[in-house]
Amino acid sequence: MTGRTALVTGGGRGIGAAAARRVAREGVAVAIADRDAGAAAATAAGIRDSGGCALAIEADVSCPDQAAAAVAEAVEWGGGLHFAYNNAGVPGVRALTAEYPDEVFWRVQQVNLGGVLACLRAELRHMAAAGGGSIVNAASGAALAGVPWSSAYVASKHAIAGLTRTAAVEYAARGVRVNAVAPGLVRTELVRGLDDDTFAAAHPMGRPAEPEEVAEAVWWLLSPGASFVTGVVLPVDGGLLARVPGLS
Ligand code: ADP
Repeated sequence: MTGRTALVTGGGRGIGAAAARRVAREGVAVAIADRDAGAAAATAAGIRDSGGCALAIEADVSCPDQAAAAVAEAVEWGGGLHFAYNNAGVPGVRALTAEYPDEVFWRVQQVNLGGVLACLRAELRHMAAAGGGSIVNAASGAALAGVPWSSAYVASKHAIAGLTRTAAVEYAARGVRVNAVAPGLVRTELVRGLDDDTFAAAHPMGRPAEPEEVAEAVWWLLSPGASFVTGVVLPVDGGLLARVPGLS
């Protein structure tokens, strides 16, 4: 995979950082875009320390201009763009749908959906013109089922599932594959404070995912190993969505 380039948004920490490291292990040069410049730099430095090739880009993907500029910078730096993982996102707050604060609701759409959309458009244009590429978007179990108290996040992730399938169908003949991963609970900073027993009970496997387990699925979807897979929203959730609720 030497000579190939990837862009990972939200690669400063969590699943994005794990995915950047996983892709770099294949010899792919990885551009890491994050609104947290220090976090992006830390992920990039870690990859370089392990012998990989990485660039940190400071970008807030909820601003379409910054998202497009990040894609352009990755293309310029790498001399092309073969892989992209559109992962940057925010969780929102916990509130009932009718009470959900409007401002937060739309901010979550702006980051999670708007950020993926802006990056995706720039990536599709580049990859279609270049003759192909592979894109993975960050969906979630919340893209495939409702989650109480989380309407903003769930709406944004359902939208990402639809966007993924539609772009996949539109660009399949142009050699660009577009898929998404749908993790359940993942052990990242975001959820580290939460009760471990709740995690265990939610997943038939009895535990949440490690970020590296999601990163593995991301790389498979990006890689030529998934050459006939497009338009898929792939659960990586230890059986979370496979179980009929209430039955053990
Ligand atoms: P996850 O569980 O999805 O990995 P994290 O909160 O650990 O969640 O990581 C999300 C990453 O996305 C963080 O590094 C964060 O800085 C980044 N991020 C969040 N919003 C934006 C944004 N608007 N633009 C760019 N990066 C963002």
